[in-house]
Amino acid sequence: MDQHFTSQTVSTDSRPAPISAGYASGVREECGIFGIYDTAGGGVSREIYRGLCALQHRGQESCGIAVSSTDGPPKNIRFHKGLGLVSEVFDEPRIASLTGNLGVGHVRYSTAGSTTVENAQPLVLNYIKGTLALAHNGNLINAARLRREQEYTGALFHTTIDSEVIAYGIARERVRCASVEEAVKRTAVHLEGGYALVITSPRKLIGVRDPYGLKPLCLGQKGSSWILASESCALSSIGAEFVRDIRPGEIVTITADGIHSDYMEAPQARPAHCVFEYIYFARLDSVIDGVSVYNARLKGGAALARSCPADADLVAGVPDSGLTAAVGFSQASGIPFALAFYKNSYVGRTFIKPTPEERQSAVQMKLSVLEPVVQGKRIVLVDDSIVRGTTMSALIKMLRKAGAKEVHVRISSPPFLHPCYFGTDVPSNRQLIASDHSVETVRSLIGADSLAYLSMEDLADMTEGLPLCRACFDGHYPMEVPEGDIRNALEEL
Ligand code: AMP
Repeated sequence: MDQHFTSQTVSTDSRPAPISAGYASGVREECGIFGIYDTAGGGVSREIYRGLCALQHRGQESCGIAVSSTDGPPKNIRFHKGLGLVSEVFDEPRIASLTGNLGVGHVRYSTAGSTTVENAQPLVLNYIKGTLALAHNGNLINAARLRREQEYTGALFHTTIDSEVIAYGIARERVRCASVEEAVKRTAVHLEGGYALVITSPRKLIGVRDPYGLKPLCLGQKGSSWILASESCALSSIGAEFVRDIRPGEIVTITADGIHSDYMEAPQARPAHCVFEYIYFARLDSVIDGVSVYNARLKGGAALARSCPADADLVAGVPDSGLTAAVGFSQASGIPFALAFYKNSYVGRTFIKPTPEERQSAVQMKLSVLEPVVQGKRIVLVDDSIVRGTTMSALIKMLRKAGAKEVHVRISSPPFLHPCYFGTDVPSNRQLIASDHSVETVRSLIGADSLAYLSMEDLADMTEGLPLCRACFDGHYPMEVPEGDIRNALEEL
């Protein structure tokens, strides 16, 4: 039998890649990652599947699982990835074929264009020291420069994702140093941006968080298994206990002998956790860096009710992203909460549709108004954010058509003014409705009777004073960011 057999399957599903968003067709990563090592040798692919299902909200465009056995030959890794949801890409026989006690998984969300199976993760790299599987959440701001440097030393790239730059960096360092964790540490010195990584080497599971802690990563345990996941909801989904969050700049290495931690050398970096996880991105039942996502959203809504009250008959939330803040608003104001919309959960995302018209009709496909609830009523409508304004203006039109008397919009985040460079899908300035319009102009553009946003002070309270990256609201990036749009940087090389 060939000792260096690597089995791989990549399903090139025939579905067309989603049409690219008008502003950019580049790769941005808002992903979910999961890693597990059963030190007693039990199979892990089912746990990875379930963990990825729990992280599905973090990415619906592609997914993958890579698994190996720590007592097998060093280059024996099995992986499968494809375009689509976890439940579409993996069926029972496929999961059963991924045998091994160590593995990583990934769900990916990108702003289209590059939704190809080549760009799906985990990345699996065979090199002189064995096999490396890597799953990455985040965005590097210097990926193009790093890749160019690597190409000049002979590297060949198969994808247009920055994760390959990281994987190649680690493999290259590994041949020059004593351990894979040391190779990760040496590679991290060169990485700029936001990233959380889970990596397997033949006998180790490694978790990494950038020195600012921009992207979330936590550690869990279930019997003889150690787990790393983007969010704690993935731990609960497999019945694992939450142990702790991985710290900013931490490299945690899990071996058969236990856990070992090391830290990157980044003296200038201060923790700056992504605020958008609490506002929109993370799942409601997750706790990230000690702060419950549910509590944060509830508090945001309550703060809005205190600082920007409205005379109304009922409070409604935009499903699903505004519902919790709407409950908070209702509790603090005493105005009853009501379901104003029915959501069709079987249609896909509206956010990345290319034109305003398509986004608007996609909103109508996804949400319909419950006329008996809203007819003749003065409504407070709560959502977590206004980005381009498409969702809100479509919903207000629908509410008015159904007979709503007044619509007072309350947004449980400050106005979006600046793009994100670290992997959150916020379009460039020119598409952000608040970046060149006053609150009053936005109000009139979306057709609301009144409009108010959460203040920066209330935002800080909402996340219990956690050190945050709030650059999308205040433009203070935790590190120097490049000028202009870097979304297409790797594809343009
Ligand atoms: P827009 O219609 O462009 O104003 O987008 C606002 C809506 O999109 C809100 O309902 C948000 O919950 C949602 N949203 C905000 N940011 C994102 C994001 N990065 N990805 C997907 N949806 C988002």
